[in-house]
Amino acid sequence: MNVLVINAGSSSLKYQLYEMNTEQVLATGRVERIGMESSILTHEVEGRAEVREVSEILEHTTAIRKVLDMLTHRQFGVLNAISEVQAVGHRVVHGGETFSESVLVDANVKLEIRKLFDLAPLHNPAHMMGIAAVEMNLPDVPQAVVFDTAFHQTMPKTSYLYAIPTVLYRKHQVRRYGFHGTSHDYVSQRAAEYLGRPLRDLKLVSCHIGNGASCTAILHGRSYDTSMGLTPLEGLMMGTRSGDLDPAIVPYTMNKEDLTLNEVNSMLNKHSGLMAVSGISSDMREVVQAMEAGNEQAKLAFEMYAYRIRKYIGAYAAAMDGLDAVLFTAGVGENSDVLRKRVCEGLTFFGLELDHGRNAVRSKDVRRITTDASKVAALVVPTNEELLIARDTYRLARGQGGELRHE
Ligand code: ADP
Repeated sequence: MNVLVINAGSSSLKYQLYEMNTEQVLATGRVERIGMESSILTHEVEGRAEVREVSEILEHTTAIRKVLDMLTHRQFGVLNAISEVQAVGHRVVHGGETFSESVLVDANVKLEIRKLFDLAPLHNPAHMMGIAAVEMNLPDVPQAVVFDTAFHQTMPKTSYLYAIPTVLYRKHQVRRYGFHGTSHDYVSQRAAEYLGRPLRDLKLVSCHIGNGASCTAILHGRSYDTSMGLTPLEGLMMGTRSGDLDPAIVPYTMNKEDLTLNEVNSMLNKHSGLMAVSGISSDMREVVQAMEAGNEQAKLAFEMYAYRIRKYIGAYAAAMDGLDAVLFTAGVGENSDVLRKRVCEGLTFFGLELDHGRNAVRSKDVRRITTDASKVAALVVPTNEELLIARDTYRLARGQGGELRHE
């Protein structure tokens, strides 16, 4: 069965086509600048040269059609006919309290996703455009939605409620939702396999450190607490997001700098974090480079970034009353040995003993970066959210009526 995984943004759309018997990626690509004059479709098939096509793509329905054309293209394609796309899985950022697992799309699911627009105004409307666009192009193909928040629906009230008037929760669903759930879920499963122990026996802290970053306490395979909140702004210091701060900074800054709510919101989401403190970049590679060249601001940004991660790991070890392994994943977590080293250096009191040689190894595989004697393991676990979306979609689509239309 072939599953097409779609991550639709407001002006972009990423795709991956999987063959699910082997879980092999047949093709990946993206459409950028949707709604603009020169939209770009980039299509990649392993072992072949990348294809770039510039055209005018005004909306998502055309974008999906172009993707399907490319997938079945005589020269660049990987399928003989569009009917070989047998299910489509979408990444959806916000599932609110409505969705605690992946589901097949139907009229009711679409309605519920729409109801959540207020909670994710930048993301959910774009995902809906993606779903509608697939429906237009592939009306008979089952679609599934996989939510970034779903994995965290297991959190207890003590983790997800804020200490503010409860009417705000009842009326407006103000609570912690958490994000990167698909990634935390995937890496915790991979880690359990690697460690050769059942997930239900493990206490893990998973650190998804990319441009956006979050830590999750995973107790017996379930999310117990996570650092992102109502929105992805809370928690760790990120590329351009501030992470945790005293909420009183918002009115204080608005007053002192004569800023509007939107301006403060944009400052905290887009002009803070590594970018603001280093004054150089939101990209960890550039910050580390500057730090190594002696730039003091870059060093401070790096230290603050690592410190915040360490603080969360410590807090979650206390929250779970123990810790078996720390998992590092995503762009920074998988690639920056310097960052991992700085985080782990402060965790020796747990009995976490970094193996510097192992930490420095570059690889695409799951690997241990602590010594064999270390009481707490630290692992690098490359994330693969698309694969988890494809697996959920495959499972749900197969379950539909027991057999597949095109198989
Ligand atoms: P997202 O999906 O949140 O956009 P990714 O997980 O792809 O982010 O991570 C992107 C970030 O990973 C980049 O901003 C960059 O800072 C970081 N990154 C990628 N490679 C390296 C590296 N070799 N060393 C340090 N940081 C890296």
